[in-house]
Amino acid sequence: MTPGIIERYAAWLPVTPATPLVSLGEGSTPLVTSRRIGPSLGLSRLFFKYEGLNPSGSFKDRGMALAVAKAIESGAHALICASTGNTSASASAYAASRGLKALVVLPSGGVATGKLAQALAYGALIVPVRGNFDRALEVVRALAQTPGYAVVNSINPFRIEGQKTAALEVFEQLGVAPDRVFLPVGNAGNITAYWRGFSELHEKRGASLPRMHGAQATGAAPIVKGHPVKRPRTVASAIRIGNPASWKTALAARDQSHGSIEAVTDEEILSAQRLLAREEGLLAEPASGAGVALLIRMAQTGQLRPDERIVCVLTGQGLKDPHALMRGLRLPPAVEPTEDAVRAAIG
Ligand SMILES: *Cc1c(COP(=O)(O)O)cnc(C)c1O
Repeated sequence: MTPGIIERYAAWLPVTPATPLVSLGEGSTPLVTSRRIGPSLGLSRLFFKYEGLNPSGSFKDRGMALAVAKAIESGAHALICASTGNTSASASAYAASRGLKALVVLPSGGVATGKLAQALAYGALIVPVRGNFDRALEVVRALAQTPGYAVVNSINPFRIEGQKTAALEVFEQLGVAPDRVFLPVGNAGNITAYWRGFSELHEKRGASLPRMHGAQATGAAPIVKGHPVKRPRTVASAIRIGNPASWKTALAARDQSHGSIEAVTDEEILSAQRLLAREEGLLAEPASGAGVALLIRMAQTGQLRPDERIVCVLTGQGLKDPHALMRGLRLPPAVEPTEDAVRAAIG
């Protein structure tokens, strides 16, 4: 059986003998060498951490495994979360695997089809609210005191702890810490988690520290602007967040690592997402395209050295949001099932 992150990284995590080994086989995701995008930008050591291959299709599974284990340890019988989609998909999956109830509060109309279908299929109780993610999270914070409920948003410290295992894995896979890490920033839990993982590797193993580069979407860039955004807008629903819960720790990651958090446009996001699929064979969510878009911009403006080890985190699976994927693409019309007709169609 593939060990999950609790078993693999127990020494790095706040686990006790009473912590159940909750796992759907999360983690152990591939670090894929870029064969085309990197070389085309003059970068010889670009890698993609393909987190879309986690059990529910996003990196959220790492933190969820630990958060659910600790919830069970503390006697909770129900999980509750607000979500732009992937947290709810992940929470619902882990709840199902342990016979817990999952209650998810979602921004109505703001969640990609695949993620909604997942939560429904895993048997979660879904409450769509007429408001954005930030409002949904406020509601969940208010419900948090209900006896027996465990909040599994990234305001739950075990989520961040579990997610830091991605940094530990990257270190194992490269044999060293990377020079730079690019990733999308929404609620800012993931950039916080990676930075914590690399910082602990630095303290315990003497590893070097990477520069952290976070990408927000132009229409949902509170950290870049320095103030909350009331009505966050972007095609990348996973990072459509106007008031990130881990704002301060994201700034610390940026500043302590001498990195950056910058905004990229929806056009850059979708174009990077398509480039990943066409040039590398890697299907990722629009949000994942944001990190790649920032990397491309920095490479094209001469801010990266050719031999730097660069890791781009592909946070979620592209199949989750077929509508975003098909934007600007067109399925050709059907033809007769004959050799002539197909030859004519090929042109
Ligand atoms: C949650 C999520 C993000 C944003 O991560 P934060 O920890 O909220 O910054 C980015 N991409 C995908 C696919 C996600 O599910």
